[in-house]
Amino acid sequence: MIIVLRKGATQKDLQGVVEEIERAGLKAHISKGTERTLIGAVGDERVLSAEHLQTLPGVEKVLPILKPFKLASKEFHPEPTIVEVNGVKIGGNKLTIIAGPCAIENEDLLMRSAKYVKDAGADVFRGSAYKPRTSPYDFQGLGEPGLKLLKKVREKFGMPVETEVMDTRHVELVAKYVDIVRVGARNMQNFELLKEVGKIDKPVILKNGLSSTIKEFLMAAEYIMSEGNHNVILCYRGIRTFETDTRFTLDLGAIPVLKANTHLPVLVDPSHAMGKKDFVPAMSKAAIAAGADGLLIEVHCDPSQAKCDAAQQIVGAEFGKLMGDLRKVAEAVGRKI
Ligand code: PEP
Ligand code: MN
Repeated sequence: MIIVLRKGATQKDLQGVVEEIERAGLKAHISKGTERTLIGAVGDERVLSAEHLQTLPGVEKVLPILKPFKLASKEFHPEPTIVEVNGVKIGGNKLTIIAGPCAIENEDLLMRSAKYVKDAGADVFRGSAYKPRTSPYDFQGLGEPGLKLLKKVREKFGMPVETEVMDTRHVELVAKYVDIVRVGARNMQNFELLKEVGKIDKPVILKNGLSSTIKEFLMAAEYIMSEGNHNVILCYRGIRTFETDTRFTLDLGAIPVLKANTHLPVLVDPSHAMGKKDFVPAMSKAAIAAGADGLLIEVHCDPSQAKCDAAQQIVGAEFGKLMGDLRKVAEAVGRKI
């Protein structure tokens, strides 16, 4: 539930409410707005009495959060969340473009890809050192040596970098090297992993599960947030349907629904959704038009040498043109790139 304090409520009033919430074994999340302070009581609220809280000094009203996700809900935090990472603001009027290869293969390919991404004006560089592959015989990623290469990109090009974390045992290590950690689709309901990334002080990109509902996606974000990390960035990458001509189905209807339900930034990944690079530009533009806060696009300097997802990666030399087209769409909907 949310406890709204009166204008002019004192620090002592605030403390009194927090103590009451904590006495009941729940966590109190304080959100100070320009006008009012809100306190979210998070946990099993049945142990709290709204009538009693209402009588505490400084309390204006007590509102139940009807949604199963609380911290992620718009009711709890009506303003859009802006996640800041090294000067890049994710979630504001300016769209965030994250681009880079599917996997980190070697230093030469990674640096060449990073140059295309930087020159085209993207904000964040992506690349995976740990790969969730369907076959155990396929390239599994370079592991820590790959993370070291990513750190080199960060230093050389002055761009924040992000990468996937798949294992609770790697969370600390991965967070040491990158600016943003990513939880991939296949781990969206790996609750132990969600809890671990909820304890770090780096932003987390959370992708929706292959067959998850929007509610399950938001509940996964809630897991991360409930551990204290509120810097969660959602990335919608489509779902599995009966369709086989595209790799997944990019249900762009999810964007306005997510935006209506949560204050968290919503990115779209058209690359993994479509599976073929020729279809990526159209869906990138469509996602911006539908209200996404940014995109995550796979870009490779030479996809013929890619060790995974070769067909869907935009060729480095063609990425600049796509960025130019995206700028026009962004402008048409009152956003910037
Ligand atoms: C990725 O972005 O590298 C990836 C594996 O995507 P997803 O988890 O959405 O399949
Ligand atoms: Mn990929």
